[in-house]
Amino acid sequence: MKNEVRVRFAPSPTGHLHIGGARTAIFNWIFARHNDGKFLLRVEDTDKKRSTKEYFDAILSSLKWLGIEWDEDLTIQSENIHLHREVVKRLLESGSAYKCFCTPESLDWKRKEAQKAKLPEIYDRECLGFSDDEIKNLESKNIPFVIRFKVPVGETVLNDLIHGKTVVQNSEIDDFVILRADDTPTYQLAVVVDDHNMGITHIIRGNDHLSNTPKQIMLYNALGWAIPDFAHMPMILGTDKARLSKRHGAVSLEHYQEQGYLSDAIFNYLTLLGWSPGEDREIISRDETVERFEICNTSKKSAVFDEIKLQWINNQYIAGMKLTELAGMVRRKLVQDIELGRLVEEKGDEYLFRVLELQKSRLKLLTDFIPFAGYFYRDPVTYDPPAIKKHWLKNTPEVLQRLGRVRLAMKDCGDYSEERIEKDMRGLAEEMDISAAKLIHPTRLALTGYGVSPGLFEMMHILGQDTVIRRLENAVAYLQTL
Ligand code: GLU
Repeated sequence: MKNEVRVRFAPSPTGHLHIGGARTAIFNWIFARHNDGKFLLRVEDTDKKRSTKEYFDAILSSLKWLGIEWDEDLTIQSENIHLHREVVKRLLESGSAYKCFCTPESLDWKRKEAQKAKLPEIYDRECLGFSDDEIKNLESKNIPFVIRFKVPVGETVLNDLIHGKTVVQNSEIDDFVILRADDTPTYQLAVVVDDHNMGITHIIRGNDHLSNTPKQIMLYNALGWAIPDFAHMPMILGTDKARLSKRHGAVSLEHYQEQGYLSDAIFNYLTLLGWSPGEDREIISRDETVERFEICNTSKKSAVFDEIKLQWINNQYIAGMKLTELAGMVRRKLVQDIELGRLVEEKGDEYLFRVLELQKSRLKLLTDFIPFAGYFYRDPVTYDPPAIKKHWLKNTPEVLQRLGRVRLAMKDCGDYSEERIEKDMRGLAEEMDISAAKLIHPTRLALTGYGVSPGLFEMMHILGQDTVIRRLENAVAYLQTL
């Protein structure tokens, strides 16, 4: 292994950071940390038409949210164009590149002819044979030209850290363009020059880049530069086994952040898309991942993005959080329900902690707090129809009224513990000669509006006597309208 491991994440600011890009960033970051190396960030903004400042900022903020901090100064690819052009000049001078004056129309025509003849669509090197005089003459007429890399004869070997060895016949590769007619470098050239200048030792990226790698290796060879190690990660697929894209719904990290996912959960889940800590473990901390991660143990197979599993992991993280930390996160989500936010503030921290303690194991998303905990703050105004059908029977008004009376009688007795509530409820069920369930389910629906909730006695204890009595009365009034 080379002295210091130096890896990079190289997003293009032409869109938000999506799940695939985030996983690439995470794998690079883990690899760097595992090897006590450096993780660098380079923004590849040479596509001026599609790159925007908004995406640039959004990508950086998503990386920060994920807890992926980069070492050294951020590299902006467009600031290196002068270096890219110098390298193109070097390649021209050494005979590894040449000027091509073919017009887009003639190239298009050649491509179509090749298609018709079922021949490979490879540039025929028409311009490679031009003499210096011919070139000067064309240039003097201001005929636009691109610069192509002259693919050498032979074969190119790629020893991928994940996929193993692949040998590519150079004859299958086109003399690719390295400098466009407008004097801008292409991706293939810029990426090699920047990776070299940044001292990158390992390139870890999605295997959608696999076809670029032989071209880049040829450039390294032509320039006499050390070739970094490559690792191409398998693609992420949707549940329909097609490559994950917007069609599958949310793919940008921002979207997941807004929906109420925790960055630790996303980080954890994405490490599992291609890597496994073994022993069937799914929950693993960053530190342990960094310690145990080996790139050669990365799977060659595509990984399916499973939102249900991500939610499960998110729930595990929420359930394991300290209440103060969770309360802070939940509060930030309450911008989505201003009224609830106000009620949460009014009731104060102590109450919020009690609610969270009871509910946190049920929250798949932070935003689930709104429906799941809303009834600790607001009286229900509607009741879940399937639950009504199931739990509100003919005798329900009477059951609820009697319970209300019991609670009212207990109002001033001072003992409002969970145990006392349970004892009273069971006593009432016995008195009315009904099962405890026949009392508990309708009461839950009356108090929350839902058919499921945390333990009823605990919940009644938190809600307090007045709220319980009022909600029982409201439910009876509602039942009378049915
Ligand atoms: N900017 C390229 C992309 O966003 C990454 C290039 C690379 O990793 O080599 O796909």
